Amino acid sequence: MSVVTPMVCGMTEQLIIRARSVADVVEAVGRARREELKLTVVAGGHGPWSHTPDAGMRIELSAIDGIEIDGVTVHVGGGATWGAVAARIGEEGLAISSGDTASVGVGGLTLGGGIGWMTRLWGLAVDQLIGAQVVTADGAVVETSATEHPDLFWALRGGGGNFGIVTRFDFAAHRLPAIVHGEYSGATDPRSVLRGMRDVLRDAPRELTVTYMDVPAMDPSAPAGARLAAVWAGTDEDALREALAPIGDLDGMEATITTPAYRDILMEMPQPEDPDQRPPGFIGGNGLYAELDDDLIDRLIAFRAAHPASVVFLRSLGGAYGDVSQDSTAFPARHATWFVMAGGFDIPGLIDDETRALIAADWSRIEEGRLAEYGNFADTERPDAVAGMFDDVAYERLRSVKAKWDPQNVFRRNHNIV
Ligand SMILES: Cc1cc2nc3c(=O)[nH]c(=O)nc-3n(C[C@H](O)[C@H](O)[C@H](O)COP(=O)(O)OP(=O)(O)OC[C@H]3O[C@@H](n4cnc5c(N)ncnc54)[C@H](O)[C@@H]3O)c2cc1C
Repeated sequence: MSVVTPMVCGMTEQLIIRARSVADVVEAVGRARREELKLTVVAGGHGPWSHTPDAGMRIELSAIDGIEIDGVTVHVGGGATWGAVAARIGEEGLAISSGDTASVGVGGLTLGGGIGWMTRLWGLAVDQLIGAQVVTADGAVVETSATEHPDLFWALRGGGGNFGIVTRFDFAAHRLPAIVHGEYSGATDPRSVLRGMRDVLRDAPRELTVTYMDVPAMDPSAPAGARLAAVWAGTDEDALREALAPIGDLDGMEATITTPAYRDILMEMPQPEDPDQRPPGFIGGNGLYAELDDDLIDRLIAFRAAHPASVVFLRSLGGAYGDVSQDSTAFPARHATWFVMAGGFDIPGLIDDETRALIAADWSRIEEGRLAEYGNFADTERPDAVAGMFDDVAYERLRSVKAKWDPQNVFRRNHNIV
């Protein structure tokens, strides 16, 4: 274990523990509890608490990053990143449903759910979880699964970092020989792209997953305007083309189809070292929606048109995501068919308070009718919003699991269940 105290937060220093073993984590949790230090847990470092230093203790898990393969079971250290996992298990022809970014941590993404390219075929990242090793608030090392401490295992699957520090995740991986990737851009009418995409996905095979983006011009890798990225889990390029023919046929639309390895479609987006280079604030939010109806589409189009520095982003759900029964994990809204995110960038000096208020009001119109907020994309700590990240029954159950496993709320720098 290495211990450093370089960060000064207000009047107090933040003690940084770079854990290398489970024993290091046990020792650090014990110290944080005894000294009542406010504890931040960091895996991939993309969550809001990782880049808002706070006085107390910060346990960094990035050195606990082992990946072991045993048949189709994959044991992953609590500090590994999805890029490393995809690269290692891809060598064996395996994949796990993950997010879409290589540098995102297995820890934060999995515990919050994990929506990605394979969600319609295999479910969320957390739906592949079959066991976990957890250092709990009292410093115990607990093995958990559907049969060992099932209450804790249930809560870990969607309840975030509230219940302990996961030092090892056990996943059931899948064989994935190849994928087909499609980029569709150039259409002039975003409404027909959204409606066409919605209609296609109503009956599409589970092999097909799409994301929709409408962003301002940022850089050459992210051209402005409405575009669609799609993945077909399999080797058949024509299957992707055929499934998305109604999109490919839209006015101005051009398609680029490639056959990369799964690990190569995970974007590289490392955490900037310099806090000044972090992305600007975001005024908006996200939601899981039962339907992408015409009214919601109209609200999204109006939002994007009204605010030049704004983004609209959607991901298809359904398929295997909806096969998982609502009460078997803590993740909300299994009957959602779309994930939607919309917001404007809060660029200091470029927008004023009046514009901020307008963006927020327009977002609140989109928010109407959502089933739940997806906590992993809620980029600030908002205690009042946490209940809205779960179904009512699940939230009460999470509270009782929290009371049992972490009565002193040692693990509180997260979307905190109290
Ligand atoms: C560029 C980018 C791309 C993203 N893409 C996706 C995506 O495709 N799909 C998706 O679903 N989400 C995505 N997200 C959201 C992402 O899931 C969350 O930001 C997630 O919390 C990041 O996890 P992390 O381990 O990198 O972050 P961290 O900041 O290290 O962790 C976030 C929180 O998770 C908890 N935690 C992390 N590891 C552990 C552990 N081992 N044990 C206990 N608690 C732990 C802690 O409470 C911590 O504060 C993306 C975010 C970004 C910034």
